[in-house]
Amino acid sequence: MKVAIVNLGRIVSGDWRNPFAGGDAILVDGDRIASVGTVSSQAVNAADVVIDAGGMTAMPGLIDSHVHITFGDYTPRQNTVGYLESYVHGGVTTAISASEVHVPGRPRDVEGVKALALAAQRCFAEWRPGGMRVIAGSVILEPGLQLSDFRELAQKGVRLAKAGFGAVKSSYDYVPLVADAKAAGLLTTCHTGGSSIPGSGAITGDHLLKMHPHVSFHINGGPTAMPDADFERVILESDMALQVCTAGNLRTTLLCARLAERHGAFDRFIIATDTPTGSGVMPLGMLYTIAHLASLTEMPPERFICAATGSNARVYGLDSGYLLAGKAADIVLIDAPDGGTQTTALDAIKNGDIAAIGMVMTAGVPRFVGRSRNTPGTTRKARVASSRVIRDFAG
Ligand SMILES: [Zn+2]
Repeated sequence: MKVAIVNLGRIVSGDWRNPFAGGDAILVDGDRIASVGTVSSQAVNAADVVIDAGGMTAMPGLIDSHVHITFGDYTPRQNTVGYLESYVHGGVTTAISASEVHVPGRPRDVEGVKALALAAQRCFAEWRPGGMRVIAGSVILEPGLQLSDFRELAQKGVRLAKAGFGAVKSSYDYVPLVADAKAAGLLTTCHTGGSSIPGSGAITGDHLLKMHPHVSFHINGGPTAMPDADFERVILESDMALQVCTAGNLRTTLLCARLAERHGAFDRFIIATDTPTGSGVMPLGMLYTIAHLASLTEMPPERFICAATGSNARVYGLDSGYLLAGKAADIVLIDAPDGGTQTTALDAIKNGDIAAIGMVMTAGVPRFVGRSRNTPGTTRKARVASSRVIRDFAG
């Protein structure tokens, strides 16, 4: 299927160093972006579906790099079904598992954690709830896991490993486990801050620096923050990604953003939600954290959209996150929310409001065109201008 999105007011690229693309249209062919900027009238006429954006802003689909996936579209933590599909209505087109620790009765032995990660990875390898891509299967680092176990998992398709919930005596016991997981080619992540659910322990700057995972999970606290002085150390003494989460400490989220900016480390600054958790199911969490950062710092709103899209994609090695030819066609239209004080999506975000969502496309398929069931309505209206496909894309 070919889809043309025309009449865009602005295009946010996903690259924070070069956050805008020129032009007013995007052409999609199959599950890939074919071109961004100017699309010829012949190409628009040849498209199976033409979406008139009505002057709205396009951005890459949001990538939430900290979601507590279990099995199916279900979170046992909040006894809620359908949350992933609901996150699509918050503009999230990719959810990355922060490890399957919320599975009831989760295993704690070596064979059990390996089987859990592999089963989770397989369960979401093809299935897209509501159109969302889910990257699941993050092996929980438990004492006893060996390099050969990590190699076996990597060879079978598991890409992620998570430190912070294992039965270790000291958080320093994770150091050799993280090293072995890295040596096997897994992307390693680590709980940061005070303890959260039972079975987790406090992890502070010194632990992180000794382990040196690829990603410091919720560096702003999950939900309790590490000492303020540790943020600068982690930024200056490592190259790990600095993930800030909605379900954490807002003051240290802002602290981390400003320090990343000051020390030239903004490439490593990424946004996620750390939900569903005790803090709840938050379909609009990514939009809130983008608005909090943009409205409470001096930095521009598009920079934080990029931290929630392209920067996550780069850290996790995904083929999405940018509005660029060849990338996965995960595209979201945003606008100033109806009834607000601002006239564009970016002005609304800078004002501290969440953007309203007018369309979500994943893998080249419009999942809804019109309005999100979770955000306020858009000021402008997106509509299907023409379609040769028997479907109304109403959501
Ligand atoms: Zn978490």
